[in-house]
Amino acid sequence: EFATLIGVPPTQVIMSLMKMGIMANINQNIKFETAEKIAFEFDKLVELKEPEEEKEDIIIQEDSEEDLELRPPIVTVMGHVDHGKTSLLDAIRKTKVTDKEAGGITQHIGASEVYINGKKVVFLDTPGHEAFTQMRLRGAQVTDIAILVVAADDGIMPQTIEAISHAKAANIPIIVAINKIDKPTANIEKVRQELSNNGLLVEDWGGDVIDVPVSAKKGENLDKLLEMVLLVAEMEELKANPNRPAVGTVIESNLDKGRGPVATVIVSNGTLKVGDPVIAGTAYGKIRALVNDKGQRVKKATPSTPVEILGLNEVPMAGDQFVVMPSEKAARTIGEKRRIKQRDEQMKATSKITLEDLFDKMQEGEVKELDIVLKADVQGSLEAIRQSIEKISNEQVQLRVIHSGVGAVADSDIMLASASNAIVIGFNVRPTSSAIAMAEREQVDMRTYRIIYELIEDIEKAMKGMLDPEY
Ligand code: GDP
Repeated sequence: EFATLIGVPPTQVIMSLMKMGIMANINQNIKFETAEKIAFEFDKLVELKEPEEEKEDIIIQEDSEEDLELRPPIVTVMGHVDHGKTSLLDAIRKTKVTDKEAGGITQHIGASEVYINGKKVVFLDTPGHEAFTQMRLRGAQVTDIAILVVAADDGIMPQTIEAISHAKAANIPIIVAINKIDKPTANIEKVRQELSNNGLLVEDWGGDVIDVPVSAKKGENLDKLLEMVLLVAEMEELKANPNRPAVGTVIESNLDKGRGPVATVIVSNGTLKVGDPVIAGTAYGKIRALVNDKGQRVKKATPSTPVEILGLNEVPMAGDQFVVMPSEKAARTIGEKRRIKQRDEQMKATSKITLEDLFDKMQEGEVKELDIVLKADVQGSLEAIRQSIEKISNEQVQLRVIHSGVGAVADSDIMLASASNAIVIGFNVRPTSSAIAMAEREQVDMRTYRIIYELIEDIEKAMKGMLDPEY
């Protein structure tokens, strides 16, 4: 059944299982973790369907079309270092915030609101695609529109290309701000040429990407840029239902000495009010106060509005979703349930064997066998090491080389070690970079040696609980 699902002949699946040390027949059930690893070998990703009662704790109701209203766009500024992202954000805030609230200084809460022709645009304060993609990795997409800043005197640079890819991966529209046009060396046409080489064809060139030449320094053309943001937002038809309990995303958080856990959230749907019971990740509580980007206390926050929330029991993480719950008790119940689940997952993740904790686990009687995946540069060393290793077994723990081979430590070695709760030893060989990444992800203990004596000594020390931690 599994083979059919991933589109691979059953015999090949059985062969892969054998390589992992699992002698399965065609009707045998396999663990999800095993299935996942096999699917991965065939370049397939599988997902575990949770049984019904295990389903996510919160069900967020859908809105019907007639309840939806337009909401302001949320914008992230991206681009290469020194191309003027921060200057552009500052310039926009200075011209658009301070002249409205006489003398009002923008607080740093992680995002700020500006007005253009009476319409609101929300800017995320942390420019760059790293924060943006970090959030996406956590399943949160906050940004509606990306402003790509390209310095007209420098053109497209590596981080510009990265930013383009990240925005495209998130499927959000890009508006190009060709910055520093006040510089004598500015070359707008060259930037457009380079943009088209990177898949962004601007309108002047017959494409549909909007570009606006600006100078953050001189404040030139910023209104035009913001108008374009509004235009794109209109085309995107960004909508939300302000008349429902709020949901949104945590974009920043910290523990404030006087105020306790503080989180800046952006409301993606509904209206958030003081007094609302909320859950955000594992944090929960009742909203004690809402503070806007000007540092003023407010009573509510409508869709797309960034606000600081006070009243949570702990600091949630950026990227956590927050949801208004029917009662404080419901929020607490779910928060505690999630905490337990998180703890279980952490325990599971750290229960992999490592040389460092071998002794402790031996003492607790948890480990009677240490399995090793061994890779070396030549066949001769493999045999010598295998024999030396197996010789140091004692009554408490049996050492076993479950797989050995000549060549670099590769992904398959890490997968095997992970599936079998083994450690990986490389002798005179290095792991591939993807193997390093996988070992980290799977929390597999991987060590490399150049001298057999040191290898044996480390294992002996580990068995006595005397191994120095490796950093
Ligand atoms: P970021 O690294 O992308 O955030 O870039 P910054 O905003 O820190 O700007 C880098 C440098 O470029 C600073 O020295 C700015 O003063 C300068 N800069 C930014 N915008 C302009 C502009 O429009 N014209 C000129 N001449 N310089 C600018």
